[in-house]
Amino acid sequence: MQTNFSLAQLADSAMAESEKILRTCVHCGFCLATCPTYTLLGDELDSPRGRIYQIKQMFEDDVPAPASTVKHIDRCLSCLSCMTTCPSSVHYMHLVDHARTYIHETHTRPFMDRALRTLLALVLPRAVPFRLALFGATLARPFAGFLPGQLKAMIALAPKSLPSPSPMDRPQRFPASGERRGRVALMTGCAQRVLDPSINEATIRLLTRHGVEVVVAKGAGCCGSLTHHMGQEHHALSSAKANIAAWWAETAEGGGEGLDAVIINTSGCGTTVKDYGFMLRDDREWSSKAAAIAGLARDISEFMDKLGLRPVENETGLRVAYHSACSMQHGQKIKEPPKTLLRAAGHEVVDIPEGHLCCGSAGTYNLMQPDIAGELLKRKVANIERVAPDVIATGNIGCMTQIGTGSDVPIVHTVALLDWATGGPMPDALSGKTRQAAR
Ligand code: SF4
Ligand code: SF4
Repeated sequence: MQTNFSLAQLADSAMAESEKILRTCVHCGFCLATCPTYTLLGDELDSPRGRIYQIKQMFEDDVPAPASTVKHIDRCLSCLSCMTTCPSSVHYMHLVDHARTYIHETHTRPFMDRALRTLLALVLPRAVPFRLALFGATLARPFAGFLPGQLKAMIALAPKSLPSPSPMDRPQRFPASGERRGRVALMTGCAQRVLDPSINEATIRLLTRHGVEVVVAKGAGCCGSLTHHMGQEHHALSSAKANIAAWWAETAEGGGEGLDAVIINTSGCGTTVKDYGFMLRDDREWSSKAAAIAGLARDISEFMDKLGLRPVENETGLRVAYHSACSMQHGQKIKEPPKTLLRAAGHEVVDIPEGHLCCGSAGTYNLMQPDIAGELLKRKVANIERVAPDVIATGNIGCMTQIGTGSDVPIVHTVALLDWATGGPMPDALSGKTRQAAR
């Protein structure tokens, strides 16, 4: 694609990077067929190619982001399905991330939209405010019908009951069982540990059972993706730096005992942590540490696939519909390891038709764009029901929450099934709910 930027514009490193990306697009349109919003809405402006044109125009014009462009960029899920399809390797993720920051800095949103975004950025990444907000949503549930769409969506997504915080999420060290085969830091995250603390517990049991020491580093928290995807770069980078500092202190170079990996069990966060090197590339103080931490980041399924699963102790043999989160399959290009592990754990793994399409979760998307998210959810649930599974497994809490509101089939994190198979407890979501569990 031809571009027309001034030298002054290109002196800005973010703009120069975006210009490079824009030039790789050859307008072929292959990406349209796999874009969820284009599939639903049929409007070129809601397709990857259409968005790339609008971003190009917005950047070249060097004016505050126009409302029409904001509308179509806001409708993008950042699912990155277009990156999997694109034959020219257009780095749409970096382009749309830059566009979102540009929009945040130049466009004045309507008051309610601004207030909602500020609230989400303050609440979601922090466990205590998030817990309080979920409690408030429980109280507001009877009045949900009288509330506007986005607030109604928030209440619908809040769980009916909240689990207690897990002591395992506090900073500490979990020694390996038997001979030590490795040492990792576990990212315990933010929203996930409030919504379902059993995921980190299962991850720690699984790793230590396989001879891996796990450290929960002091000072680590939200990865920054929630604010990053709202264009709030300042917040995202300060979250990234807090994590990098915490994990760096555990590496041999940072004076710690050394790390073989930083383990992430929420694929949406994994995509962001793996991008820390790029996000902080221009920061002299942080760039090399950021690149090193990004290089250590592994999804739990990636790490366990390399380590190999020990013999199965609990023969469960469920029919598992594996839902590959967009951030897993498109963001991190991890496709086979979770399925290989589930099979090794004794399950029959079935693919979900139209598996490349997003479920509508996409970080805060289901809160900000509830109508499109709802359509995608209906489509995902119908596809899941076509394969009649006992259980749905996935590696991202956002998808678990979203799909859980639309389907009666139990949904669990992949690690919960691996933990159960190798000696851990049955996941709560399964007790009494499946044919096999009833045996
Ligand atoms: S598939 Fe790639 S090169 Fe083709 S239009 Fe889409 S982004 Fe551009
Ligand atoms: S990220 Fe997803 S929704 Fe956005 S343009 Fe690409 S395929 Fe479409």
